[in-house]
Amino acid sequence: MLKEMSKNVVKLALLSASVLFFFGCNSMPADEQLMAEKTEPAQAAEEKKENLVWDAGAVQLEYHKIAPGVYAYYPTDAQEKNPKGYPVATAGGFVVGDNEVLVVESMVNKRLADQVLGFIKEVTDKPIRYLVNTSYHGDHSYGNYVFPKSVSIIQHRKTKEFMDNKEGFEADKKFMVQYFGANRGIEDVIARTGDIILEDGALYEVDLGNKKVEIRHFGFAQTEGDLFIWVPEDKVFWTGNPVVAQPPALPWLLDGKHEEVLATLKKVRAFLPEDAVVVPGHGVPIQPKDIDFKIRYLESLHKEVKNAVEQGMTVEEAQKTITLPDFQGYALFDWVHSGVNVPNTYKDLSK
Ligand SMILES: [Zn+2]
Repeated sequence: MLKEMSKNVVKLALLSASVLFFFGCNSMPADEQLMAEKTEPAQAAEEKKENLVWDAGAVQLEYHKIAPGVYAYYPTDAQEKNPKGYPVATAGGFVVGDNEVLVVESMVNKRLADQVLGFIKEVTDKPIRYLVNTSYHGDHSYGNYVFPKSVSIIQHRKTKEFMDNKEGFEADKKFMVQYFGANRGIEDVIARTGDIILEDGALYEVDLGNKKVEIRHFGFAQTEGDLFIWVPEDKVFWTGNPVVAQPPALPWLLDGKHEEVLATLKKVRAFLPEDAVVVPGHGVPIQPKDIDFKIRYLESLHKEVKNAVEQGMTVEEAQKTITLPDFQGYALFDWVHSGVNVPNTYKDLSK
């Protein structure tokens, strides 16, 4: 447990440094930045002052029916920002059967969890029976406590362990406040953890009444406890962060292990029929073939970093040399690729 704790502290420090790095060299074109300031002066000034990745007090969600009884929700700016490679808030969804409802993700605060609950109320009066968190990350799980007591929360064991660790959870909240905003309700979050706990390799099936949903663990994808949700009849799939958004978004190897991530994403890709609808962790629905970009990126990253290690380069030299021109375009490229993915892959391949 102590080892887990110190690892998380290191990760928070790494993330903090990385995000600062990102904001230090904001890659938004100057004219677009000017436009943003002109159209939303108060909000832009506020965000700039606080250096937010996105503002948990300003995000608006919208929901769309993607199959009978199957809905995705995502931020209203996702459609515009995803193709340009800008980061947006969390996406999720819900599935309505004849008897009950399953929800994917609970968002970062009460304000956003209430938006999700409002969408469900607009669509059905059936009770919510299950809520699945794809990982322990706060933007996917902090809103759990807002859901009715009767709801069973489904998590991987590692997600529950992270959230049950009081000290680690409070540190995580402070971290989230720093990048998603103070006084946006993140401080008020109470850890509410799983009632149904899944293990590695799990396949857990629920029947909502003529609507089956599978919750699957395919392996290490970004954290130790990533869950994927599949509605077989309608071929709809939720991924959480391991597939963050359409290209040019890249995987964030915050905990390294690129070879495991690659193996898991290949497994996921092979599992999905070509005509499946994939709801990523932070964006509008995409196609299974959009995952190929991430797979090719990880293969190139592995090859280039392995070369660098074999040639005796230092990590700094590797960061400077490995620019992967075919995979640029993500607004967070500098800090996700150069700041996080290259050094973590270098560390793993130097062992
Ligand atoms: Zn996320």
